[in-house]
Amino acid sequence: MLNEILVTSSSMPSKEEFFEEISELWDTHWLTNMGIKHKLLQEKLENYLEVPHVILYTNGHLALENAIAALNLPKGGEVITTPFTFASTTHAIVRNGLVPVFCDINDENYTMDVNKIEALITDQTVAIIPVHVYGSICDVEEIDRIARKYGLKVIYDAAHAFAVKYKGASVACFGDASMFSFHATKVFNTIEGGAVCFKNDSWVQLLNDQKNFGIHGPEEVAYVGGNAKMNEFQAAMGLCNIRHLDEEINKRKLIVEYYIKRLSGIDGIKLPSKQKDVESNYAYFPVVFDGYKYTRNEVFTRLAEKGIAARKYFYPLTNGFECYRNYPTAGTEKTPIAQHIALRVLTLPLYADLRLDDVDRICNIILE
Ligand SMILES: *Cc1c(COP(=O)(O)O)cnc(C)c1O
Repeated sequence: MLNEILVTSSSMPSKEEFFEEISELWDTHWLTNMGIKHKLLQEKLENYLEVPHVILYTNGHLALENAIAALNLPKGGEVITTPFTFASTTHAIVRNGLVPVFCDINDENYTMDVNKIEALITDQTVAIIPVHVYGSICDVEEIDRIARKYGLKVIYDAAHAFAVKYKGASVACFGDASMFSFHATKVFNTIEGGAVCFKNDSWVQLLNDQKNFGIHGPEEVAYVGGNAKMNEFQAAMGLCNIRHLDEEINKRKLIVEYYIKRLSGIDGIKLPSKQKDVESNYAYFPVVFDGYKYTRNEVFTRLAEKGIAARKYFYPLTNGFECYRNYPTAGTEKTPIAQHIALRVLTLPLYADLRLDDVDRICNIILE
């Protein structure tokens, strides 16, 4: 019986390394509320991501919700975003009392089609929330130009893009802020976790207070905040994983190159194209089956029958979710390219320790 292959497998340090990292916590008995590990990880990430400020969160979703809240946008304001993303992006907008307006994607790297943004801008538009989907970098220059022209805020959902660089610059430095997810399934994980990165010094206190019930001082509660703090065990996992990250990304690169070697040049199979000036993190391997001898769903089922879990990521589009059915801006027919890709894309298993003979097994099933 051949082993089952999951779509991903979390990166972990050795037990010894993690135990060593957390052993200090038995001396301090300080388990959360911005302890020593939290402080160390924050500094490490500010260096690694080359950004002045990193605020850590218990997960990426709350990081995004809090970043949007910090913009203090008028309720009912319209936010231009992409439906080709994880539920989190759209929910974070709506949970802040804002209205998502869905922009279609381009069919090259599946990020927001910047040529379609301006037509969606109205006098209610307050922000743009694009996604560096699969770790592909959005057209940050054009988005910046549009945001300046219309006075809009920009927050990037960079959940997929940790460690990616564009023209030598860290992905964390674009827009007003960027959100990262450190969920167990992401390239860099803190078990669960996330961060907001930005340059604006005046946001530091606000975001730090906001994630801790709005508590500003021992006897002062300045905001209606929630609780979104990263704890010490999460931060310790991050301190271990960041040591091995470059090596993990290199291993992913070899796997992606092998997939490309096995699957390129085949009619009806579209592979991710290399982006100009981008240093990738090899987070995902999305394959689009468009006119291939098997449909995406057939490939998905054939793999599943052999114990291999690929993922229909992203299907359905967020503008097709049941919970948004009555939203005037929803409807997958409004974003035809995103819908076309969502019906045909499959992300194949990819993680640092995936074996090349397992990649062969996967490709043989797809091609046979
Ligand atoms: C993972 C993910 C999130 C949410 O992050 P969590 O850490 O799981 O809360 C948000 N957006 C995208 C695109 C994601 O993939």
